[in-house]
Amino acid sequence: MKAYCVKERKSREMVSPKEVKFGKGRHALKGKCASCGTTLFRITGK
Ligand SMILES: [Zn+2]
Repeated sequence: MKAYCVKERKSREMVSPKEVKFGKGRHALKGKCASCGTTLFRITGK
């Protein structure tokens, strides 16, 4: 699972992603950057 790291401004591997929900049925994956430990989000679904 890759996600964009805003700290490094690069696409990084996400560690231990967990699904989170917010708003009207929107889903996202939340995890940590394998490189620097910054929290990463990736929007999933529709
Ligand atoms: Zn990072």
